[in-house]
Amino acid sequence: MKKLKFNSAALALACAMSVLPALPALAQNDGIPVEKMSRMRSIGGDADQVNQQSKLQYDQMLKQAHDKDQVATDSNPQLIRLRAIADRLIPFTKRWNPDAANWKWEVNLLNSPTVNAFCMPGGRIAFYSGILTKLNLTDDEVAAVMGHEIAHALREHARAQAGKNAVTSTVARVGGSLIAGYFGLDPRLGDAGGSAVAQVSALKFSRSDESEADLVGLDLAARAGYDPRAGVALWQKMAAINKSQPISFLSTHPTGSDRIRNMNDHMNLVLPVYARAKGLDANKLPPYRSLALPKS
Ligand SMILES: [Zn+2]
Repeated sequence: MKKLKFNSAALALACAMSVLPALPALAQNDGIPVEKMSRMRSIGGDADQVNQQSKLQYDQMLKQAHDKDQVATDSNPQLIRLRAIADRLIPFTKRWNPDAANWKWEVNLLNSPTVNAFCMPGGRIAFYSGILTKLNLTDDEVAAVMGHEIAHALREHARAQAGKNAVTSTVARVGGSLIAGYFGLDPRLGDAGGSAVAQVSALKFSRSDESEADLVGLDLAARAGYDPRAGVALWQKMAAINKSQPISFLSTHPTGSDRIRNMNDHMNLVLPVYARAKGLDANKLPPYRSLALPKS
C-alpha cells in the first residue's frame, strides 16, 4: 500500500514536471496539432540528397523559363507581393519542421497562363501568373495556396512518397534518383499548349498528405495573420473555374466537398490563431470577403 502511494506520488510529480515546461508556451499550442512525420521518409532517401535534387530541378526549371523570358524580374509587383506573403509565413514553418529554419527559401513568379504553384523540398517556391489572374486571388487566398504548397515541403511528403513507391515498386531504386523523376519536366501537364513555361511535374500526393497540407497551410496562414477561411473560398474558386477550363493544379489536387469539409471541420482551431495574430475577438470576426472571378 505504502509502495503504491509512493508510485502514484512519483507519477504525479513526473506528470507535473512534463507539463510544467510547456506552460509558458501554452498560448502557442493552439491551432492544428503537430503530428509525427511519416516514417516512410527514411526509405525515400536522405534529406540532404532530396534537397540537392530539388535545387537542381528548380534551377533547371528557372533556366528554361529564363530562356523563354518568362521569369518575372525582382521589380514585378506581383512577385513583390508573393515574396511579402512568403516572408510572413516563413517564420512559422519551423513549428512543422525544425530543419526549415536553415532552408534557403526562394520565391519566383513565372509568366504563364498556367494555373499552378508549387514548393519543392527545401523551400523553393514558384507561382505561375495564371493562378493569380485567373482566380483573382486575394492575399489571404495566396497565403492559403502558398501555405498548402509549403506544407507539402515541410512535412516532406515527396520524400515519404518516394519511400512508399520504393516499397511497392519492384523496379524502384531507393534514394534521390526517385525524387528526380517526380520533379522532372513533364510537358503533358501544360494547359496552355507548347508556349507554356515547361511544367514541373508536381507529385500527386495521397489524400492524407493533401488533407495534412490543407490544414498545415491554414495554420501557417492564420499565424501570419491571413484569414484561414480564404482556404475554403480558394477551393470553391478552383472548382468553379475548372468547369470552363480544366486547370493543371487540380490534376494533382482533386477538389471536392471532402477537402472543403475537412477545412471547415478544423476552422474552430485556426480562427482563434488568426484572431490573436490580428488582435481581434475570435467571436466577432467580420465575414471573409473574396474577390469575384474575372469575367472570361
Ligand atoms: Zn497538395
